[in-house]
Amino acid sequence: MRSDLSGIPDYVPGKSEEDIKKTYGLERVVKLASNENPYGCTPKALEVLRQFSKLNSYPPKDPEELRERIAGYVGFDPEMVFISSGLDGVLECAFKLLVEPGDEVCFALPTFPYYSILSKIYRARENKTERDSEFRMVNYSKKAKLTVICSPNNPTGNVENPDFVKEIVENVNGYVFIDEAYAEFTEKNLTELVEYENVMVGRTFSKAFGLAGIRLGYAVMHPDMRKALMKVNPPFPVSSLAVKAGIAALEDLEWMRKTVRMIKRDREWLFRKLKNIARPFKSEANFLYVETEMDGKSIVEKLEKKGVIVRALSGFEGARENAFRVSVGKREENEAFIKALEDVVCLQ
Ligand code: PMP
Repeated sequence: MRSDLSGIPDYVPGKSEEDIKKTYGLERVVKLASNENPYGCTPKALEVLRQFSKLNSYPPKDPEELRERIAGYVGFDPEMVFISSGLDGVLECAFKLLVEPGDEVCFALPTFPYYSILSKIYRARENKTERDSEFRMVNYSKKAKLTVICSPNNPTGNVENPDFVKEIVENVNGYVFIDEAYAEFTEKNLTELVEYENVMVGRTFSKAFGLAGIRLGYAVMHPDMRKALMKVNPPFPVSSLAVKAGIAALEDLEWMRKTVRMIKRDREWLFRKLKNIARPFKSEANFLYVETEMDGKSIVEKLEKKGVIVRALSGFEGARENAFRVSVGKREENEAFIKALEDVVCLQ
């Protein structure tokens, strides 16, 4: 095995309902830890999956119909759409294509931990910059081979200033990956920057479309970049089921938009309630970054004992000790969370 393996941290996902039920002997658990869509995907996708039986055949290598549908959805040419196994899979392909040992990879902390994990796997030199008091990126490095910008940022929920991102794109010598996993929850997208040849904009079906279990992600980029990325995409990166579900989801955008409207409405409700007991930050995503007077880890544990799972930020380098992240759930789930948090904070 590689000599540097112990230096590569594991990706730690949000805890599951089953884990917490078993650990604390609880019957009902609310999970607000992985930024999933609490309303699920369109019933039309479920119907298509139920009826699909051609599992003995390989899926297409580069599913054309899905690519065309995605192109229509984002408003760019199909030749600009690259599809892989989740946005995680897309990100890995970008690293595989661009990053040679010793190359500089730049991103601002705290952010999605997989950028750092990938940098270590591909033996990059990490340039981890700081953010301002509103968690906006304020630095970049012209020398970086790859700059990763997460907007809205996980775990802080803020979007980046488009003028600053444009400055980065125009001034760096390398490539810029803009991670818009949470694009559907904000009007302030940066997608149009794909007009620059060094930019890729990544998206996913895991969040707004409620299809995290199907593992489907994509990125929009210059057609030449897409051709190059296809060389490092695994032979069959997405399953036949993912292709079918993705097409069905794009045929029923109204379902996705309706659930996003509810999530955005409840995000504001949650923010107002949280303001009375803690320090939430304004978010353009389907989660909130919250600071309290207590240690984040201990809050998360106490909430788990009460049957509410939120995300501890110990795996997010640069996040404050007193912070945690909570996904916006259904109204009754959000109410259960607020009640549990009130109890935990009062008992302090
Ligand atoms: N980027 C960000 C910012 C994310 O939060 C996530 C999901 N945790 C991903 C990428 C990966 O998404 P996917 O499920 O499509 O692999």
